[in-house]
Amino acid sequence: MTSGSAAVNLEGVVVHLRALGESSRVVELVTREAGRIALVARGVRRSRKRFQGAIDLFVSLRVQATVKPGLWNLEGVDVINPRLAIRSSLERLSLASFFTELTYQLMPEQQRAQRIFDAYLTSLDAVDGNALDKAMAVLPAMLNAAGILPSPDHCLRCGIIEPIAVAPLIVEGGWICADCARGTVVTPAAFWRGEGAGLNVQGREALLRAAAAWVQGHTGRELKSLRLWQSGSRTLAPPPRQAP
Ligand SMILES: [Zn+2]
Repeated sequence: MTSGSAAVNLEGVVVHLRALGESSRVVELVTREAGRIALVARGVRRSRKRFQGAIDLFVSLRVQATVKPGLWNLEGVDVINPRLAIRSSLERLSLASFFTELTYQLMPEQQRAQRIFDAYLTSLDAVDGNALDKAMAVLPAMLNAAGILPSPDHCLRCGIIEPIAVAPLIVEGGWICADCARGTVVTPAAFWRGEGAGLNVQGREALLRAAAAWVQGHTGRELKSLRLWQSGSRTLAPPPRQAP
């Protein structure tokens, strides 16, 4: 490597975009090889042909980049998977946005974190394929990969071993059983052991809010995508049935 810069090839997903000057953008990616990185896409706002319009949220890309101190330079991109179906409903878009923000916060900067990356891809592909239960099942795996998943082996309040259900109140630093959590929506303990569980709309919302609070407690940063659901728009509810 000569002084200053080096060329690299990376696989990543676009997780954040912001304008830079009049014609460029800062593109943040989570990558398989190097964790979360920020690159400058020069001229991308001036010409749609530049980077073939491929730089958008949720898109998997192979990128060619120049490593520099501070922001890297984006030199070229090839689309691996555009995941266009994520935008086909507000419900899918909301869930993909949640997992994207979660991953943004949990993925270390310029440091490989393979399990978080794999969990994120699984969540996006599941949302893209409208397998929302499968996407939700990624949550414990992702928290575990980030080292912040408490083990659901006893109730924090009454000490019951192996609670059959846990309230999504992990902000206390662990789990409480269904009895101690009376009046709140609970999530089956099997879900947190990665065994999956079908959750209804209320259960899913409660779970996502609790997970967001838990992650915010660790990172000190708000998950803004959650505001979509707290605005009263109920975007995670199923779409209304069409009248025959
Ligand atoms: Zn209890």
